[in-house]
Parts: sequence; structure tokens; C-alpha cells
Amino acid sequence: MKQYQTKEIQEISKIICNKCGKEIAVENGRYSADVLQVEKRWNYPSDKDNEVHRFDLCEECYDAFVQTFSIPVEVR
Ligand SMILES: [Zn+2]
Repeated sequence: MKQYQTKEIQEISKIICNKCGKEIAVENGRYSADVLQVEKRWNYPSDKDNEVHRFDLCEECYDAFVQTFSIPVEVR
């Protein structure tokens, strides 16, 4: 005899660009477009000591963001 338990599973259904609000669909773990995902834990002596900041950017917003850099991103 087999006994089963019900488990709650959470999976990503979409990514929303933090800059423009564009939605990027995710089906079965596959993104319909690539995104920049950033997660940063700030440490001492930052004013944000121990805060974790995270955000996602769509490719268009990433392109616009890096164009503001004085030094271009490294591309390999
Ligand atoms: Zn965007």
C-alpha cells in the first residue's frame, strides 16, 4: 500500500522587469527571453548593511543601463 502526501510546489510563472514592467513568461522553467538577474547582500560598512537587494532587468533595459557606463562592460 502506498500513502501519498500533498506537497505545495512553487514555480516561477513569469519574470517582471523592475525597470519597465515588461513580463517575461516562464513555462516549465524555460524563460521566453533572457533576463539579467541581480542579487546583492550589502555588507559592513554599507548603510544597507546586511540587506539583500534583488532585481531583474529585461534585455532592452539592460542594454539601456549599460550604455550609461563610463567604462563599457566586458564582453567575452
Ligand atoms: Zn525592461
